[in-house]
Formats: sequence, structure tokens, C-alpha cells
Amino acid sequence: MQKSVSLHTLGCKLNYSETSTIAGKFSESGFAMKPYGESSDIFVLNTCSVTDNADKECRQIIRSVLNKNPDTYIIVTGCYAQLRPNEIAEIHGVDLVLGANEKFKLFDYVNNFEKKDLSCVFTSPISEVTDFDYAYSSDIDSRTRAFLKIQDGCDYNCSFCTIPLARGKSRSLGIDKVIDNAKKLIDTGYKEIVLTGVNTGDYNYRTDTGNRDYRLMDVLLELEKLNIPRIRISSIEPNLLTDEIIQLVKSSNSICRHFHIPLQSGDPEILKLMRRRYSRDQYEDLIYKLNSEIPGVGIGIDVITGFPQETEEKFMNTVKFLEPLPASYLHIFTYSERKNTFAVTLPGRVDAGSRRERSGILREISNKKRLAFYRKNVDKTHKVLFETVKEDDFIYGFSENYIKTRVKAGHKLENTILNVRISSADTFNFTEGSIAA
Ligand code: SF4
Repeated sequence: MQKSVSLHTLGCKLNYSETSTIAGKFSESGFAMKPYGESSDIFVLNTCSVTDNADKECRQIIRSVLNKNPDTYIIVTGCYAQLRPNEIAEIHGVDLVLGANEKFKLFDYVNNFEKKDLSCVFTSPISEVTDFDYAYSSDIDSRTRAFLKIQDGCDYNCSFCTIPLARGKSRSLGIDKVIDNAKKLIDTGYKEIVLTGVNTGDYNYRTDTGNRDYRLMDVLLELEKLNIPRIRISSIEPNLLTDEIIQLVKSSNSICRHFHIPLQSGDPEILKLMRRRYSRDQYEDLIYKLNSEIPGVGIGIDVITGFPQETEEKFMNTVKFLEPLPASYLHIFTYSERKNTFAVTLPGRVDAGSRRERSGILREISNKKRLAFYRKNVDKTHKVLFETVKEDDFIYGFSENYIKTRVKAGHKLENTILNVRISSADTFNFTEGSIAA
């Protein structure tokens, strides 16, 4: 009888794209796919390690899957599985734990999917993790936007981050494969490709003959030749956003005028403690340069609150830095202690209440920034890729510079790119628009 599988992802876009690849392997092997939440013979959970809630969430999800069907064969993989496999193996009901090197080879480790009393763990030391499986995924199961993984791992050593420990050294997908995969995605009907990686700006591929190095700029140039309607860079470290990439985006019809650039703190001393590779001044210069070179550019900024030694005064330095900065939204993370990082050894912990409060303050600033950005675009026309229809026949989509807008038009616009005139912006959640000529 045909066995069924359902999968669930925690964490970042990269994890989503990798879950899609694992799903593809099940599908190729003849398994029936079930949506997450429905009872299935096998369940795969792709975990994250960004916060220390991971284990709690992992336990809850496994419990709820087993409640529906106690015979479900449970596989857990992802960053948390690489970092703390034994902790996961101890969770009652887990059958198989796969680390970073093993996650795409799960059929090498199991074939009959029969539950046993004990769980099996397969992980490799992170120094041996070199696997790179092509991965892409669609957003909310639509045929609109695909996340294409071009890079994995990270050689940076930010003091708060466990990703290098969970995903290993930086490595990049060969340029030919990037191009082939992008073509496949476009042929399947996707209108937007989001280039994804742990440190996407660090893309660096040397050809087998060793006579050519490809960097992110080269990837963008190659993809531009394919007439892809839209290419978006998921996130890029500020020190890797070069002038030539800025100029390319400025002149391109397909690369989105939208950047997601981690800052993490606006206080120079905290930035140093975080071991980031830029100064506050360099970051500020970059944001102003982007605004002057690329009019209307959308900029998202990652910030962490409550890092050790972030006093009230230092937090206010971040607030004062961010408030006037011409960016369109913030993405806020509340610091949480991670084992085996330098940050966890630092004195001067910030209490949980202050961490939460600071995140709330930054969320307010983010909402104001987004609304101000939306309002600046009222009466302007943008190309919008329509994605989903929600209540009352409104269809929602994003402009190339990441303005969420809706028009009343229903399903017929799904997965089309049309000119939309932004007519009003009353909330930071979305703008209202109408189809323009
Ligand atoms: S750049 Fe820093 S924060 Fe980002 S993945 Fe690498 S180590 Fe982590």
C-alpha cells in the first residue's frame, strides 16, 4: 500500500526550501504527500536553532502529530538536530534524527519506516559537513515565488550565532546548476525567484578548471540573461553589498529594488561584541547610498534586542540610529542565549522583561517606518506580483520594492505582474491600489 508523508518546517526560508527538496525525494519514491496537520505514515520535522524555544516547539509538534496517529514514523532534521541530536532522540516518539550532512540522504538510513522502541541518530561532525543539495520551494504552495538556495553555511563568526555550528562552512552551488534550476523554476511557472542562502552575499564558486571565480554579482548577471520576470536577493550582509551590485540593481528591469540588510545593533560597542564586520558609520553610509542611487528602494533591517551589555543607554543608541534612517521596515529578534557561542560567556545579561520591552519599542518604530514608506508611495505606480486572494475578493501582492498592496479583482490575477497605482495607505499592513494601464 502506498505510504503517506507530511512535512513541517520551523525557521528560515532556507529551511523551507530544503523541506521542499526532502518532499521531492519522497514524492519521487512514490509516497503520497499529505498536508501538515493531516494524519500520515511518516512525519518529517525540519527544525531551527535560532531561539532556545526550539526543543519546546519540537516536543509540542511531535506530540500533536502522534496524538492524531500514534504509529506515525517521526523524522527530525535541521539545525537543532545537528546541534543537539541526543536531546531530540530522547523525545518520546522520535524515530530518526538526521544531521546537516544526512538530511538529504534519508533513504540511505531508513527504508521500511517501521517504528521501534529506540530512536536512531545519524549526524556528522560539523567540520565534515560539505553536502549541498539543490533546494527550492514555493511560497504558501503557490506558483508565484520560489526560493532558490544558492549558498549554505557561513564562515563568519558572529558571537551570538549558532548557524556556523549547525550548517558548517560556507559553500556555494555551481553556477551551471544555479542557472539550470532557475530555468526549471521559470518553466514551471514561477514569476519570482528569491536567491537564498545562509550568507547569500558570500556566494563564491570556483569552476572545476579553477580559472574562474563566480561571486553573487556574476550569479545576478547570469540570471538576468534568462528573462526571469523577478529576481530578489533574500538577505545580504552590509559588507558584501558592493557598489557593482547596487549599480546592477539600479539598471536592472528584473532584480528587485529591495534589500534586507542585517544591522543587529546601532551601538558601536555592541556591534563589536557581536563581532559584526562593519561599523555603524559604514552601515549608515550604505543605507544613504542605496537611497540616493536607487530611488524608491525598499530596505528591511534585522535588529537584535537584549544582547549582553546592552544597557538602556546603548539600546537608546540603536533607537536614535534607526529612527531617522531611511529604511522601510525592521525585522526584530529578541536575543536568546545559545550554547557554545561567545556571547553566552559575556557578563551583563539583560533581563527577559527588558528584552521584550525593547523588542516592542522597535516594533513600533518598524510599523511607523513601514507606514511612512507606504505613504511616500501613494499615487505612484509599481509592478505588483499578485499572489493570494483573501476575503471579499481582494487579491494581495508585493511590488518590486516590497510594498504589500491589494486590489479588488479576485482569482483571475493570481501569478500575474501588473502595474498598480497605490491609491491609499491607512495601515502598515498593506496599501490599497488599482490596476493601472
Ligand atoms: S553572518 Fe553572522 S549571523 Fe549571519 S549566519 Fe553567519 S555567523 Fe550567523
